[in-house]
Amino acid sequence: MATINRVLPIDLRSDTVTTPSAPMREAMAAAEVGDDQYGEDPSARRLEEAVAALFGFAEAMFVPTGIMANHIGIRLQVGPGEELICDADAHIVAHENGGLAAHAGIQTRTLPSARGLMDPDALAAMIRVGDRYTVGTRAVEVENTHNRGGGAVYPLETLQRIRALTDASGIGLHLDGARIWNAHAAAGVPLREYGAIAHTMSVCMSKGLGAPAGSLLLMPEGRSEEARSLRRRLGGSMRQVGILAAGAHYALENNLDRLSQDHENARRIATALRDAGASVREPETNIVLVDTEDAPAVAKECFGRGVRISAFGPKLLRIVTHLDVSAQDCDTAADVVSSVLMQSPERG
Ligand SMILES: *Cc1c(COP(=O)(O)O)cnc(C)c1O
Repeated sequence: MATINRVLPIDLRSDTVTTPSAPMREAMAAAEVGDDQYGEDPSARRLEEAVAALFGFAEAMFVPTGIMANHIGIRLQVGPGEELICDADAHIVAHENGGLAAHAGIQTRTLPSARGLMDPDALAAMIRVGDRYTVGTRAVEVENTHNRGGGAVYPLETLQRIRALTDASGIGLHLDGARIWNAHAAAGVPLREYGAIAHTMSVCMSKGLGAPAGSLLLMPEGRSEEARSLRRRLGGSMRQVGILAAGAHYALENNLDRLSQDHENARRIATALRDAGASVREPETNIVLVDTEDAPAVAKECFGRGVRISAFGPKLLRIVTHLDVSAQDCDTAADVVSSVLMQSPERG
């Protein structure tokens, strides 16, 4: 059943394309379930408690997607007409379809940042106190690892400086940790250290960890009722969600320790492409970015040759490794991508 995860093409568009393995499906099939809207799903409860404890938070809430986790976490700290500061390439402003503005009336002000990692001094200069004439900053959002930044990892010390800034201003800090597992695997920073810098934090179970769906919002004591009410308002409250939670729990227990293999595979691809003459940004985790003149044309040509990669912008390719591709698959893919890049008129 689950052995036919992928035949062709080799799919490196995202680490969201993984499909649940046979043992993950068994864990899901065996899950004890109940109605989560009554708070009666034991598998969801167990996962929430486990992930909250891992990061040192008092409460956690399972949600269908990372976008919803970010939305609710930020909404707990920033109200309509108030301001959130984040980097200019943040997932919350690039890829969440304006949700913070549309659903919550939140103003985002952005700081252009190399690889998406904000400079604390530049950030300090942006935070402002509100008055009758000026919109005040209510919270700051950081993303780790940074998706559009090519899976870039924040140094822990930078995060701690950002937290000190927000404390000094009496404002909140939300961490988009959809890819925090990769940061942990790459930097060796304990998950609790990451948890300690944020007031609220989202983590995704369906990227590198390979669960079919689900994210969690982590939050301090006393915010859970409000968070559950917001989840319901957004239409994200589910019933026998333990089937998904069990898949996520399986992913946590079995797929966290192997993430460094994905990072190794990303470096393999980057090295092969660079050796072939392509303009590659050195990967820090499982995302390889390649600059090229016509990214959509290159992605299309690669697809025709059995390798799927993303045009992440008109001149930017994104290649993402994950648990459903082997080192061998990555070598094959690198051969295909480099031959397409090198044959195109602009030469990568
Ligand atoms: C994927 C991702 C999200 C959103 O997750 P969805 O489950 O697709 O809603 C948020 N932030 C980052 C950094 C991501 O990579």
